[in-house]
Amino acid sequence: MKTAVFPGSFDPITIGHVDLVNRSIALFEKIIVAIGVNSQKQGLFSVEQRIEMISNIFQSETKVEVKSYEGLTVKFCEDNEAWYILRGLRSAADFEYENTIARLNQSLNEKIETVFMSSQPQYVHISSTIVREIHINKGDVSKFVHPAVLPYFS
Ligand code: ADP
Repeated sequence: MKTAVFPGSFDPITIGHVDLVNRSIALFEKIIVAIGVNSQKQGLFSVEQRIEMISNIFQSETKVEVKSYEGLTVKFCEDNEAWYILRGLRSAADFEYENTIARLNQSLNEKIETVFMSSQPQYVHISSTIVREIHINKGDVSKFVHPAVLPYFS
């Protein structure tokens, strides 16, 4: 099965991430949204909450699965027999960073190909960091997250 892993922190998932997943559905047979867990780093939302949010958004989409993992993304891909890593590009700065990680991952396992998808212009300014900042400063995040995510902010 042609499976892609979409790895990230997703703290929280934004409408930019959701758009990427929706556009990739035409390209793959299965997409695993994979929450990378860093035990040293406390997020705004727990991993369980992040899994719940993403599962709620894609509940009627049979091709999309949600999992969490610790350690190397490449190892997670191997364990799930996924030979594609999906990443989003918002800017040239994203490309510089992402390209380095992609080369590194390919040197760890040459079977694994990273596929980049450009952000649509209306989403380029959206990031999980921005959403967290707005929330911490008591702003309205509803323009940046899927409606299924909003209850987690109240
Ligand atoms: P990480 O902590 O690994 O950067 P993120 O959850 O911030 O994880 O992002 C996961 C992936 O989604 C990255 O490839 C990132 O470039 C992409 N991404 C984030 N926001 C957007 C957006 N607004 N449009 C398109 N891609 C995005």
